[in-house]
Amino acid sequence: MMRKERKSVLRYFGRVTRDLYAIMPWEVSGVILLELLEAAAGFLQVSAAAGFFDAAGRWLEGGADRNLVLRRAGLFVVAMGLPMLCRLLVEALQNLPMFLKHHRLIHRLHGRVASVPLIRLEEPEFHNEVWRAKMSVYNFGLVNYFFGFIDLLPLLVRFLGTVWVIAAFHVSFIPLALLSVLPSILVRFRYQRERYSMKRAQTPLERRKDYLWQVLTGRSLAKELRTMGTEKYIREKWALARDQVMDETLAFERKNGNRVLRGDLFKFFGVGASIGLSIWFAHRGLISLGQFAACIAAFGSLQSMAESVMNQLAWQKGRADFAGDYYDFFDNEAEEEEGEDYPGLQDRIEARDVSFCYPGSGKEALSGVSLAIRKGERVVIVGENGSGKTTLSKVMAGIYRPEKGRVLYDGKDALSYDKDSFYKSFSVIQQNFVKYQFTVRENIGISRPAQIHNDERLLKSARDAGIEGTVRRAGGLDAQLGREFDGVELSGGEWQKLAIARGLNKDADVIILDEPTSALDSLVEYDILVKFLDMTRGKTSVIISHRIGLGRFADRIIVMKDGRVAQTGTHDELLAMGGEYGRMWHEQAKWYQ
Ligand code: ADP
Repeated sequence: MMRKERKSVLRYFGRVTRDLYAIMPWEVSGVILLELLEAAAGFLQVSAAAGFFDAAGRWLEGGADRNLVLRRAGLFVVAMGLPMLCRLLVEALQNLPMFLKHHRLIHRLHGRVASVPLIRLEEPEFHNEVWRAKMSVYNFGLVNYFFGFIDLLPLLVRFLGTVWVIAAFHVSFIPLALLSVLPSILVRFRYQRERYSMKRAQTPLERRKDYLWQVLTGRSLAKELRTMGTEKYIREKWALARDQVMDETLAFERKNGNRVLRGDLFKFFGVGASIGLSIWFAHRGLISLGQFAACIAAFGSLQSMAESVMNQLAWQKGRADFAGDYYDFFDNEAEEEEGEDYPGLQDRIEARDVSFCYPGSGKEALSGVSLAIRKGERVVIVGENGSGKTTLSKVMAGIYRPEKGRVLYDGKDALSYDKDSFYKSFSVIQQNFVKYQFTVRENIGISRPAQIHNDERLLKSARDAGIEGTVRRAGGLDAQLGREFDGVELSGGEWQKLAIARGLNKDADVIILDEPTSALDSLVEYDILVKFLDMTRGKTSVIISHRIGLGRFADRIIVMKDGRVAQTGTHDELLAMGGEYGRMWHEQAKWYQ
């Protein structure tokens, strides 16, 4: 998804100014004041230089008194020194505090990522956008863009000052100076435009590099890399991606270096022409000898000023594009809609003719699913891998929006509720649960932060999930877990039980358990799930499992097949019915006998 419209260089100025001022008002105001002072000094510089050269020239010709030359020399020195002092102060202000504080923009980005509909996370372009927005902040995109304009102020004033001085000699110097820098400026604008396009196109490659880096250095995959002998392959894959980025960048810089050189040649013609013009003016007696020297100096100064101003503008064009990466993310990504407070489940959750298709996949993961789960019912969803169990639970929980059909909570669309209040009454324990490298207390208590210091509650959740002994052995609730920060490592099964403890600790009305038990051996898994069903008596609970035998302990079983509800009923009803459930039951019966 490339942005098509051409962006004005000023497009983000208002937003960046507002945002940076909100984060660091003192620094921003200080820099603006200093830059204004520098601009004023710059103006003084041009007229002081002209005045000094003129007086010195006249003095050499015997036409001016020495004191005037000294006074003007003094003014000239002050005018030269003041901008340097301002620059030093600006740099001190811009450096550490600003660059530290502006990372708050990343914080805001995290907040926004957390508020987009979860289905967006299934799309690679979303991750490209987040990457670019993140890099925009990490590379100081917004700060550079803002201060680029502020830095332009003194440059502009000095430029105008120079124009004013040189116009006093002869206006023809002005178009001459501007024309002589035009080719190199055009080259620089093009450079900025193409550089941004290149970087933008490299986003997926940069992300791949980042991913490979994590695979190579992360702890969780290290064992697989070593034992499977895949490390060398992945290292080479990373090097290949790195080389591609470097080759493209080098080729680009080389091509542009040549262009810049050719553009710069034009400037010499300008200098030659200005000397010729000055000689001609002097010859015609239009300017004095002192003015002749000042004229040539002022032309050089005008030329380099014009170049600096335009060059800075070209950079600003590029910076606008990079700053835009940050704001485009906020503009392009719709937030979850706000809704009304969720009062809690009163009667039933219902799916009506729901169909759902993952982005980029041509196949429906759910097609025409209709079912109802009553409050307090304990339902087990069974079915083969890929039959749509997880997708169904996500759509029912309002995590994904159905393409067709509706999911209703007590007759109202699940999507019409405020997400925060809605999820307060939900506990979803997922297949790929998180192993937080935190303390036991945080691992369990994070699902209800207000109760994180309630030891009794946390220990009860641990007990219910069958992990009390492990907590004791690890050293209690405040023991650090995981090797990342020198804590106690748990087995895969223990981590899974911990995730279940976290889910139970939330004490939600509706609990969804999506097979987070694959690392447990079959009997333990079965035991935990049966206990779980028992514990959730009186709550609405949904267990997704390929363990068909669980159905015996549930109030109702939903059998999924190829994205559709194949059967529903109790264990006995379904067995009597025959079909998919009966087939799966007989296949797995050995586990339960
Ligand atoms: P189950 O939980 O029964 O194993 P899922 O609900 O995970 O099944 O998957 C149902 C179908 O949707 C499968 O064909 C699977 O390949 C597809 N699918 C699941 N997740 C995604 C995804 N993130 N993107 C695209 N397709 C997906």
